[in-house]
Amino acid sequence: MPINNRAVLIVSGGMDSCVLAHYYAAAGFHLHLLSFDYGQKHVKELDYAERYIADLRARYSQLEIVHDTIDLPIAQLLTNSDSALINPERQMPHGHYTDDSMKATVVPYRNPNMLLQAATVAWNEHASVVAYAAHQGDYSQYPDCREEFVDAFNNLLAVAMEGQTIKVESPFMRFTKAQIARLGSNLHVPFEHTWSCYEGGSSGLDDRHCGICGTCVERYEAFKEAGVPDPTVYANDPEQYLHIPGRADA
Ligand SMILES: [Zn+2]
Repeated sequence: MPINNRAVLIVSGGMDSCVLAHYYAAAGFHLHLLSFDYGQKHVKELDYAERYIADLRARYSQLEIVHDTIDLPIAQLLTNSDSALINPERQMPHGHYTDDSMKATVVPYRNPNMLLQAATVAWNEHASVVAYAAHQGDYSQYPDCREEFVDAFNNLLAVAMEGQTIKVESPFMRFTKAQIARLGSNLHVPFEHTWSCYEGGSSGLDDRHCGICGTCVERYEAFKEAGVPDPTVYANDPEQYLHIPGRADA
């Protein structure tokens, strides 16, 4: 049980993070939202975080909602990583996610790095909760999106410092992305102010999602499965990529 109603949330520009912020705001938590510039190619997502957070503030004006973007030198440290998210030489996987193509988007230790920053902020502000938006679809290839990791990280926090109890939560861990879309729809989340595309920032696309990369296809599929209207403007129709298995190198 939380000991107060103050939470630090890790948020990207994506729909899961946006739903997470609404979920805690709807529960009455004052929020310190943290976004991270870790050298991701789709840094454009951070502009979208600003957009939905402005909307969130207007909607929950009774709550304190602070947002900061923190630079993390993850890409600078991972000079030998072949992750398509941070290595300019690597192509973003296209088509529906497979284990292999999703693996190509793993950034080693990304969540533990972010969570430790968030826990430090939580300590500073006496917040009782730190949360992030891992979901069931992340489970197979992202080790730091699993329950074992959250349990281990909570154990780490408990032994790393004494005097305050800070709990890491990941409330959507057992949700499919479609279930997150459904929850977001119930919470009236402004999905049009969220950004998923890993090709974000590529020339010629402007404010359109590519519709081809694994995360675009995953986003499209989630709205479709949930029966929630998808406000995303796609440069290519993701429907035709739903049944094309992604490859790590294409
Ligand atoms: Zn895309």
